[in-house]
Amino acid sequence: MSNPKMHPSITVERVVEIVERSHMTLDNPGLCCRCGEEQDGCEPDARDYTCEACGEAAVYGAEEILLMIA
Ligand SMILES: [Zn+2]
Repeated sequence: MSNPKMHPSITVERVVEIVERSHMTLDNPGLCCRCGEEQDGCEPDARDYTCEACGEAAVYGAEEILLMIA
């Protein structure tokens, strides 16, 4: 399984918290693997979305990230 390099700020603890929050609010948060920025409007299984902060196509849905790092 290919594992993109994760930004050090992306920890299991942080992603679990984001996923739990998304279940309560129906938000669709994603995270940029490159810079660690949180980004809204991502499907849970989003992949390679463009990051608004750094411009890299490295935004993944929070649940997708959790599957990759858990
Ligand atoms: Zn980014």
